[in-house]
Amino acid sequence: MSKIPPLDLVQQYQTIEAEVRSAVLEVLASGRYIGGTQVTDFEQQFASYVGVSDCVACNSGTDALYIALLALGIGPGDEVITPPFTFIATAETISAVGATPVFVDIEATSFNLDPAQVAAAVTPRTRAIMPVHLFGRPADMTRVMEVANQHHVPVIEDCAQAVGATWSGQRVGSIGQVGCFSFYPTKNLGACGDGGALTTNDAAIAAKSRMLLNHGSRKRYYHEAIGINSRLDAIQAAILKIKLSYLETWNAQRRAVSERYSRLLAQVPGVVLPQEISEGKSVWNQYTLRLLAPAETAVSDGDVQGGQFRDRVRSQLQANGISSTVYYPLPLHLQPVYQDLGYQPGRFPVSEQACHQVLSLPMFPELSPEQQEQVAYALKDCLGT
Ligand SMILES: *Cc1c(COP(=O)(O)O)cnc(C)c1O
Repeated sequence: MSKIPPLDLVQQYQTIEAEVRSAVLEVLASGRYIGGTQVTDFEQQFASYVGVSDCVACNSGTDALYIALLALGIGPGDEVITPPFTFIATAETISAVGATPVFVDIEATSFNLDPAQVAAAVTPRTRAIMPVHLFGRPADMTRVMEVANQHHVPVIEDCAQAVGATWSGQRVGSIGQVGCFSFYPTKNLGACGDGGALTTNDAAIAAKSRMLLNHGSRKRYYHEAIGINSRLDAIQAAILKIKLSYLETWNAQRRAVSERYSRLLAQVPGVVLPQEISEGKSVWNQYTLRLLAPAETAVSDGDVQGGQFRDRVRSQLQANGISSTVYYPLPLHLQPVYQDLGYQPGRFPVSEQACHQVLSLPMFPELSPEQQEQVAYALKDCLGT
């Protein structure tokens, strides 16, 4: 049996190699490596894909979040509500601007922040809500926007894993005040290096973001704010334009992969499959299931074994040549870096349980039905079913 990687960027590159080569060579020959039409074209195309008036390209998803917070004037003394079950960049950028992340627990089925708990966490210091569309599945934006509008706070969507996902027919990144995207190679729209973008329908936010990521400058060598240097390279923009034209196809292939997994793994005892609801169309950046330790299969409350069962299954899969991944083994409120926030274990039980139970199976558009059968067979074998 052949090895199955978590994702395969080489296989995808081979399908677009000729186009990418000629686009990259064109940029190299042009002498225009920073800014220029490659970047502005990509910004326009991406804005129209997401369904917003403005897109501001930058160097990474992390920078997009950081700049969004700065552009909204968020800083020391301010609070931003976000889930603890996400990649560190979400909360890290809140801390980096000097504000405080205020965590709220997630919903068990969507892995996304629980809007009811968002409402309960709002204080007079709340300056933004930052939902994450985790694994490609959109958060409940109807209820998040309701709470946000009620309290007059902006919403910054962390869309890093969910480019193309829709909530009630609207693309993520067009629902809150700002959407933040990552073009890290493992995301659904990945560059050949780092990249990111902000999307917004607010021209003032777009202009301020552009100023901030250009050393706080609107006019060359005149600086009105402390900013950073965060640009999308012309080469990456040229590659992203090509890849954007395939994104819908690739996202549809990911959907087909997810549907096949769900058929192959239906009714396996102790396996809880990811679900979609009608309002929220996922783009399946990950196919993430939960593994319940045998004792939990009957009474699925609390994982006494702290992830050991899941980790054992994962090693067995690896021994069979199948690479699975754990996103994320430790929630942000229990990370060493956030000990000073004073959250105790048990504070966010749904997130903590997810950290012990989740397992992401190999997922990429080109994954073949035979490979998926091999994954399903090996997983069932590991679970003794
Ligand atoms: C990848 C990711 C980011 C950061 O994006 P980079 O481009 O790697 O900086 C932020 N949030 C989430 C949820 C991510 O998955």
